[in-house]
Amino acid sequence: MEKKEYIISLIPHEDEPLKTMREIASRTETYAPIVPSDTAQLLKTMLKITRPKRILEIGTAIGYSAILMAKNTPLDTEIITIERYEKVADIAINNIFEAGFEKKIRVVKGEAADIINWLDGGFDMVFMDGAKGQYIEFLPRILELLNTGGVLITDDVLYKEPNEEKNATERHRKYTIVQRLRKYLEVICNHPLLDTTVLESGEGIAISYKKG
Ligand code: SAM
Repeated sequence: MEKKEYIISLIPHEDEPLKTMREIASRTETYAPIVPSDTAQLLKTMLKITRPKRILEIGTAIGYSAILMAKNTPLDTEIITIERYEKVADIAINNIFEAGFEKKIRVVKGEAADIINWLDGGFDMVFMDGAKGQYIEFLPRILELLNTGGVLITDDVLYKEPNEEKNATERHRKYTIVQRLRKYLEVICNHPLLDTTVLESGEGIAISYKKG
């Protein structure tokens, strides 16, 4: 068994409603891009260790990771999650309501680039999992919103453009995302305010601690 496959085989079964949400998200007709199970497990462990009181997520999708965060944080933790697509955000709102976390999670509909400018700061954790190509632009504002001692978790940082992409425009778009992600990694790995480690989980995840 390959190393990654072996690590994934060690992950315990997920609780409901996450298990069902993952099943639904994996079907072609109801596909949704949610965090892979090794990243979900890493996120869960990070939440248990850091016990954040205020979390910002960029990229709600159907609310899988928001619900995972709600399940693994203290009762009074507040989670704000941003989703640009109204229909997707509505699915998330419904899933969050059914999971009983509507008081803990607030879904904000719209473009992350706009919304982060009017949000109040004081976040103990930021999970960036949407708009890969824009992470580098979001970073200065995210660092303002994040408390000293807070954690920035950035997903998909080792994303690679698929070799089989035939459409030239799409190939160029994906190539640009990869270049921007590399620039982002260079910045967060050398930033004076951050201590960063990059892990292979999922499509790569960066964990950055904001220093004083
Ligand atoms: N965090 C989710 C989970 O694990 O359950 C998965 C998020 S999915 C990878 C990325 C989501 O970010 C998509 O639903 C997409 O519509 C949203 N998104 C992408 N760019 C965005 C932007 N600029 N502003 C807000 N949402 C965005």
